[in-house]
Amino acid sequence: HQTVSILGIPFINTSQTAFEQILYKRINDQQNTFVVTANPEIVMYAHEHPDYANLIKTADFIVADGIGIVIGAKLLETPVEERITGYDLFESLLKWGDQQHKSAYFVGAKPQVIQKLQEIVRNRYPHLTIAGTHDGYFDDDNQIVNDIRRTSPDMVFVATGYPKQEAFIKKNRDASNALWMGIGGSFDVITG
Ligand code: UDP
Repeated sequence: HQTVSILGIPFINTSQTAFEQILYKRINDQQNTFVVTANPEIVMYAHEHPDYANLIKTADFIVADGIGIVIGAKLLETPVEERITGYDLFESLLKWGDQQHKSAYFVGAKPQVIQKLQEIVRNRYPHLTIAGTHDGYFDDDNQIVNDIRRTSPDMVFVATGYPKQEAFIKKNRDASNALWMGIGGSFDVITG
């Protein structure tokens, strides 16, 4: 895939619709996929923390989640097609997952938020199987990772904020041949 480098981070250069089609195919093929939706804070943090930069470079795709990145790319005369936000991707994947009867695991946010998220997903996306949920305040990954391994979901959404969510995915993505994506505060957003 064609990428555009900004501060050493290779961003995929595609429209959201085209990118979604890539993800849908990979999910159907049960290809293990790690997506980083990098906003400007993440790009700056990666610039200052080489370990984190190397970590996110292990992702299969890094998308430009921020108009600042799109503008920066344009100034560098290496434009990316459009901004793709983690939240928009999250909503598209839930909708598609409902239509296609896929399953998803949700990790992140405060206990009352993840509880509410569960209710919203059940109501709005009734054919999407909730493989499991866990709040984002835990010391030990083991129990969650074993649960993901056991339930083998198609998608794993990790919303514990950066850099935690990407470290969690890098370390644990072998637990399921799923789409793994860090989506920051998205559980808070969808539950309002
Ligand atoms: N969070 C979490 N565990 C933590 C710290 C934060 O689950 O140890 C959650 C927090 O409740 C919020 C999200 O992670 O839902 C972070 O949202 P934010 O918008 O700050 O995301 P960021 O921009 O940091 O990726």
